[in-house]
Amino acid sequence: EITAQQIGKVFGRFTALEDISLTIGRGEFLTLLGPSGSGKTTFLMILAGFEPATSGKLLLDGRDITDMPPEQRAFGMVFQGYALFPHMSVADNIAFPLKVQGRSAAQIRARVDEMVQMVGLTGHADKRPSGLSGGQQQRVALARALAYEPPVLLLDEPFSALDKNLRGQMQEEMRRIHRQTGTTFVFVTHDQEEALALSTRIAIFEKGKLQQLAPPREVYEQPANRFVAEFLGDIN
Ligand code: ATP
Repeated sequence: EITAQQIGKVFGRFTALEDISLTIGRGEFLTLLGPSGSGKTTFLMILAGFEPATSGKLLLDGRDITDMPPEQRAFGMVFQGYALFPHMSVADNIAFPLKVQGRSAAQIRARVDEMVQMVGLTGHADKRPSGLSGGQQQRVALARALAYEPPVLLLDEPFSALDKNLRGQMQEEMRRIHRQTGTTFVFVTHDQEEALALSTRIAIFEKGKLQQLAPPREVYEQPANRFVAEFLGDIN
């Protein structure tokens, strides 16, 4: 369980996040939705530990992790710009966190094969990331993050470079993983249909503030305020 207590973030004189308090339950699939610049990525970066919060506290199962470095949090992540290792093959990129976990060579090989197949990259396992398209690289990043089944996965628009077909397949896969592993997902997307289909709850951000946090049906049927109603209405 992750608890954010009055998280604030200021860049110079600009307030990117204001007083964000929420709890993300274990096994939840929480989607962050909101217009461009509303603070979704900033909030995810703070959860990951890549950005320090200006104020507030972050707890993981009751333990204060506000100042814990990202590697100690051991969250799986797919961020734009959270790059693959360029000097490693696709297979070695996916294997990396499994090696860190100390899995056996045989286990690693089996899991890498499985993941390569899952993300539709059979035949590309020995290539370097530079030899892949943007969408393929995104799939490798996703495979790497999903392979070792971390307790928490933070995903910032992980399907942005994928075509519609593949996007659907990856969504399906994500849903399966969520059902089967009990992983906690925190997911940023622009795609409302995606949010509706995958989430246990949706957090709606506007100008750095949390406007509503509720299950998908509820945000659509009982929007907390005019902004939420119009935002959801607009894009559909
Ligand atoms: P998008 O949907 O476009 O990715 P977002 O909701 O994820 O938007 P953020 O990326 O969190 O929004 O940005 C929130 C605000 O904070 C934006 O106005 C952005 O310009 C500002 N911001 C983010 N990072 C920095 C930074 N390092 N320095 C200054 N301002 C920043």
